[in-house]
Amino acid sequence: MIEPIIDSRVIEQLKQLLKNARHIVITCHLSPDGDALGSTLGLCRVLRNMGKDAHVVVPDQVPRALMFIPSVRDVVVYTMAQLRGRFLVRNADLIFCLDFNTLKRIDKLGEVIEMSNAPRVLIDHHLNPDNVFDVKISFPHLSSTCEVVYRTLMQMALLRYVDTEVAQCLYVGMMTDTGNFTYSSDYPEIYEIVAHLVSYRINKQWLYNMAMNTFSADSLRLQGYALSEKMQVFPEAGAALITLTREELERFNYREGDTEGLVDKPLCAPEVQWVMFLREDADQINVACRSEGDFSVSEICSRYFGGGGHKNAAGGDFKGTMEEAVEVFHRVLADYGN
Ligand code: MN
Repeated sequence: MIEPIIDSRVIEQLKQLLKNARHIVITCHLSPDGDALGSTLGLCRVLRNMGKDAHVVVPDQVPRALMFIPSVRDVVVYTMAQLRGRFLVRNADLIFCLDFNTLKRIDKLGEVIEMSNAPRVLIDHHLNPDNVFDVKISFPHLSSTCEVVYRTLMQMALLRYVDTEVAQCLYVGMMTDTGNFTYSSDYPEIYEIVAHLVSYRINKQWLYNMAMNTFSADSLRLQGYALSEKMQVFPEAGAALITLTREELERFNYREGDTEGLVDKPLCAPEVQWVMFLREDADQINVACRSEGDFSVSEICSRYFGGGGHKNAAGGDFKGTMEEAVEVFHRVLADYGN
């Protein structure tokens, strides 16, 4: 039995908003991941199945690795189709904001959404959401936004609009945000939801292979190089650092997504409790952190990089050189010592 954890007044409010809405926009954070796309596309399909005019508008491009998600080709990418994106947002009488907690997380699209008079509904699992949402459905202790979407549909009695495509979308987000049900998934109810989604014949092995286990030969070589040549372990601090410069990435014909999962690898070593991965992008250093147990990398990312995320998985950006970013890592080591 899945507990109805969303406040019934919130559900009533959302029912009312939905009843009055015809044109609906659903959006998610920059560099959309499996949970962001799974939740937006899953919800969009449910709304369309209900007869609504619903569209997914994402702030920037969908990674090639996620192009297998059903209907992903229908999303409007704001950086590539601004007019269309702006039209859809202006025309919307309801906006869903999925898998992020502040409009800053969606870049220029946030400004457009801020100008709209349509009610904004947040469905999310990140800590401390902003106060710019009219309805907030935020559960940071849950696995994924996809799970929160499922629970919202359940409590609104909309599960009858779920079909195989919706089930695939929601499963992808739950799977990717838990490392294929490894972390953030130690409670029975998540498997009750999975059981229901599996009943739609979703082919979870195929979804796993597409979402989490497909790499080009170049990418495998890059990851091997990163682990063998570029991983530094600091056993006394329980930490590991991986850096990859532009030049190194280019040597392996880097494409977006090629380092997916790399940041998790050092945690395999028992002496490593947290990891920082610094990757030099075109105009900044991308920071990704992972940890095990109580060490909060979301705190590290927000304090030192103005970023954030979850306790065990967080990220941020650094405007500066790789050397300067590495200095920050050493400052963290000094500040958090042991
Ligand atoms: Mn998520």
